[in-house]
Amino acid sequence: MAFDPYRLALSRVLYPGWERLRGRPTFHLLATLRRGERASSDEIIALRTPFLLRLLRHAYHHTAHYRRAFDAAGVSPGDLRSLNDLARIPLLDRASAQSTVDNRTAAWPAVAVAKTTSGSTGQPLEVRYSTESQHWRDATRWRGFGWAGYRMGDKAIHLWGVPVLTPSPLARAKLALDRRLRRDLYVSCMVRSRENLLAMVRLIARERPDALVGYGQALADLARFVTAEGLRSWETIPVIYGAERLWPHDRAALAEAFGPAVFETYGCREFMLIGAECEAHDGLHASAENLIVEILVRAPDGSTRPARPGEQGEVAVTDLHNLACPFIRYLIGDLATARAPGPCACGRTLPRFGPVQGRITDTMRDADGNRVEGMVFNLLFLHLAEHTRQFQVVQRADRRLTLKIVPTAGGLPERAESVLREFVGKYVRGVPLEIEVVREIPLSSTGKLHRVIVEQQDP
Ligand SMILES: [Zn+2]
Repeated sequence: MAFDPYRLALSRVLYPGWERLRGRPTFHLLATLRRGERASSDEIIALRTPFLLRLLRHAYHHTAHYRRAFDAAGVSPGDLRSLNDLARIPLLDRASAQSTVDNRTAAWPAVAVAKTTSGSTGQPLEVRYSTESQHWRDATRWRGFGWAGYRMGDKAIHLWGVPVLTPSPLARAKLALDRRLRRDLYVSCMVRSRENLLAMVRLIARERPDALVGYGQALADLARFVTAEGLRSWETIPVIYGAERLWPHDRAALAEAFGPAVFETYGCREFMLIGAECEAHDGLHASAENLIVEILVRAPDGSTRPARPGEQGEVAVTDLHNLACPFIRYLIGDLATARAPGPCACGRTLPRFGPVQGRITDTMRDADGNRVEGMVFNLLFLHLAEHTRQFQVVQRADRRLTLKIVPTAGGLPERAESVLREFVGKYVRGVPLEIEVVREIPLSSTGKLHRVIVEQQDP
């Protein structure tokens, strides 16, 4: 990387000063996190245990919801001593999280931020958190981005959806100043027309950013466009993606257009960054000082156990630093693969998990009710990668399947329909299939592309 005095000034002087001005000790916390990410696992446990016990006791004594939940489960806060005791606390699913927002809100500390997440199911959930939690969120996010080589003071281009709510003029001005100080450029990825994609390519060629950050599918669409049109004019640019899961051929497209430095991040509005990929590209390191990430397998009787290494389970997250409106063992609604403990090739000791398979609702059912992971369509579209620009699979409540396909300029080969029918017949047995060749696949209201949509079905 070339010497850049502005970057140096930003990272050493301007940005820390700006953070202090806003009363946010992100910098200090970030430095602490960076020092601690190679600590021994005993040291990490020693760090997390008091935070967890403080959270559990606080939740019991200061929120109506957790007092009731602990009492019902026969858990007395005085009995809680170690990280393992977390398993005694009941899980919190999304519906309960929605209905208990006020009862989970503690008398103190004050709620500093309240925001609503729409979620993929459309039911809004209000998330409230304290100032302390906000510092941890900011610091863990910057630490995770740093593993991809993107640090404060670097120039990044972000491809995001538009905010659902328009911020007030003052908030907008603060945001603009914040972004300008950080040299971040924001581009809407809502409409991926040829004209817009070309404008993004020109921006990248002109600005030569240190990183590209954004929705996975938006970046992959851009990557395919760059390669198809022969527009790559840059060396490797690190790509940090999140919000939408990518399939192996999407990652391959990113590597072809921007180089091999492709990094997955996993987060949500409830917690911000939950995990991020490091340069070893072998799973995601959890934001372990801020969150406890559990991967759980449910037994038919409803009880749960931790997933074994390599096994897939439901993601449950506990936020150690949000005392204002605690989230304890919150089931996000995603499936991820558990990993064996042990250090990563990068030398960091933070626990790892992943890959993240995505929403639980991505699991389809065949005519007999057998579960079929939506990811199988990856296999199918690997075969058709040179003929399809984008696709979407929708399973209706009555199990009918609709495959929407956007072909490349050359169109679909004649054999495509029989390949598709044979594939669906083999993997999602017995369901009626409809194939639609379309010019575009509509994005969700927040600008995401859902490759697999499964409507609510009877269990
Ligand atoms: Zn690592």
